[in-house]
Amino acid sequence: MKVLICLDFQDGHLKNSTQELLTVAGASGAEIITVAFGNGADKISDLGDWGIQKHYAGTSGALAKPSPEAYTDAIHKVLASENCDVVLGSSTTVNKDVFPRLAIRMDGAFISDLTELKLAPFAARRPMYAGKCTAAVNIKDGVKKFLLVRPNQLTISNPKKGRAPEVATVDGAATGTELTDVAGGSTKTLDLTEANIIISGGRGLKEADKFKLLYDMAEPLGATVGASRAVVDLGWVPHSMQVGQTGKTVAPSLYIACGISGAIQHIAGMSSSKVIVAINTDEKAPIFQKSTYGIVGDIFEIAPALTEEFKALK
Ligand SMILES: Cc1cc2nc3c(=O)[nH]c(=O)nc-3n(C[C@H](O)[C@H](O)[C@H](O)COP(=O)(O)OP(=O)(O)OC[C@H]3O[C@@H](n4cnc5c(N)ncnc54)[C@H](O)[C@@H]3O)c2cc1C
Repeated sequence: MKVLICLDFQDGHLKNSTQELLTVAGASGAEIITVAFGNGADKISDLGDWGIQKHYAGTSGALAKPSPEAYTDAIHKVLASENCDVVLGSSTTVNKDVFPRLAIRMDGAFISDLTELKLAPFAARRPMYAGKCTAAVNIKDGVKKFLLVRPNQLTISNPKKGRAPEVATVDGAATGTELTDVAGGSTKTLDLTEANIIISGGRGLKEADKFKLLYDMAEPLGATVGASRAVVDLGWVPHSMQVGQTGKTVAPSLYIACGISGAIQHIAGMSSSKVIVAINTDEKAPIFQKSTYGIVGDIFEIAPALTEEFKALK
């Protein structure tokens, strides 16, 4: 079996989400080919640890900036010369744009949001009905598999195979669209979909200004602040902070839900979190049924107390 993995990296290192995919591919005994785009894609320092045979880097032209069209074109070119059985990526916004295009171009099959995956023998599960259940999914033999896995779902085991792969360049063109400008976001913290710790607030915070309590709590942890739809609809915070069915799907190591009732649409976006802590005055709030730890109490007392504890950890 030959597997192509679309890598995500930051500051010259592979992201954990990518290491999860490399672990799965390594465990299957497959030949591993990788591809990455953007500035630094040819200089990822830890590529040699994973038994990768060949790495393709697209750093110039249309591939220098995020472009699903150009990425599709480039990966298609890699697949034309590598003939891989499986193409793996993390369930990022860009990959959710790129992978279905590839599957259509190559007459393959696409599955997103996997939370469990083994390649040999093939076994995969993904959530269904807003996380109410999970489904075992399969792809027929002989059909090329395009698979996206949610971050933070699989274990990482680094084989430390110390031989750097051969690095080749790849190009790709965007025919219909052109990215003309990328404006920086307003926050320096990680995007919700990448964050390892998320502290989310809901209507229990009573007013927009009280979100400051959550930012204070987040600061010593390096956490990202999220929100329920109720407070987005109230105009307290932007939609980019919304977690849930019509917001972002997140899977951090730690999710702290503050004054959030736990409606099914909210749970749909965060139930894959490893540890869930809920803080709510109502002991019957549905969020407690999904929580690893629950604190029945007033967020206005508990948030400042936790902030002090988190500062002491620093
Ligand atoms: C089609 C559709 C899509 C939707 N998509 C989403 C989505 O993507 N994301 C999402 O979040 N919702 C979504 N919703 C809305 C969802 O159904 C809920 O209305 C929403 O999640 C409720 O937000 P909340 O928990 O902040 O507010 P509430 O349900 O009002 O809950 C507030 C909670 O705060 C607690 N509380 C009150 N005071 C305090 C205090 N002092 N300290 C601690 N706790 C306190 C209360 O006990 C209560 O449990 C969607 C709904 C629909 C119909």
